[in-house]
Amino acid sequence: MPPVFRFAPSPNGYLHLGHAYSALLNFDLARQSGGRFLLRIEDIDPARCRAEFEMAIHEDLAWLGINWQQPVRRQSEHLADYGNALEQLSAEGLVYPSFESRAEVARLVAQREQSGPWPRDPDGAPLYPGTAKQLSAGERARLMESGAPYALRLDMAAAMARAGRVFWTEQGEGPAGETGRIEAHPGAWGDVILARKETPTSYHLSVVVDDALQEVTEVVRGQDLFHATSVHVLLQHLLGLPQPRYRHHRLIVDEAGYKLSKSTRATGLRELRAAGATPADIRSLLGLP
Ligand code: GLU
Repeated sequence: MPPVFRFAPSPNGYLHLGHAYSALLNFDLARQSGGRFLLRIEDIDPARCRAEFEMAIHEDLAWLGINWQQPVRRQSEHLADYGNALEQLSAEGLVYPSFESRAEVARLVAQREQSGPWPRDPDGAPLYPGTAKQLSAGERARLMESGAPYALRLDMAAAMARAGRVFWTEQGEGPAGETGRIEAHPGAWGDVILARKETPTSYHLSVVVDDALQEVTEVVRGQDLFHATSVHVLLQHLLGLPQPRYRHHRLIVDEAGYKLSKSTRATGLRELRAAGATPADIRSLLGLP
């Protein structure tokens, strides 16, 4: 079976050099290995995603000389698939609703911090204190019926107990040079959100479901997602999905050494193009042949 690669941007801004590196790397690896290259639009967040950005993704990738297999998978069109996966985890007793607003979670964390440091996830956000896990079934049902907003969380302790030790194959490198057979440490993320009342999925859930449904065998993406892979391989294990190989690549940083953001004008592909850069210039800027 030929390998299957994918580039999976979120249409919440214009593409910059960091995206170009990821997309070109995936495209080149697919070509060199006689594999397939897919484009997936990760547009589950209606508040941040725009049609204009999605059109620009197609345009900018085509300009770079990249082509992809049809159909393009748009996550917003497949919410039922993520709902089924969530259902499967719920049926195993691994999901619970939490009702605190972000401000309330911050207050609970501040309270905990009075008696010592409170753990933070690999992205630096404090872990959810797990308060809603203690709610009785009756209390949960009452809150759900009241129409209150909620987030559905993975009961991480239960999930890890169910899965046991989980590993993945890293063909690239993590931020600390991790490579080869890597043991997942999903506990570092705490009770992650799998879905919200208004968005019935999350990045973690949809990425895992889609990689499986699209039969992706190689996940090639930035090192900023290296630690999230722990959650992804845990979910694959719990859902009985096949595990792709992972290759986390270096991040393209700006002159000051910071990760590029979608608002960094100097490195936007549209700006570079308008300033006269050619696709060959972009490749050479990125150190790609
Ligand atoms: N949609 C994610 C992003 O734009 C990438 C997801 C992935 O490659 O797993 O950062």
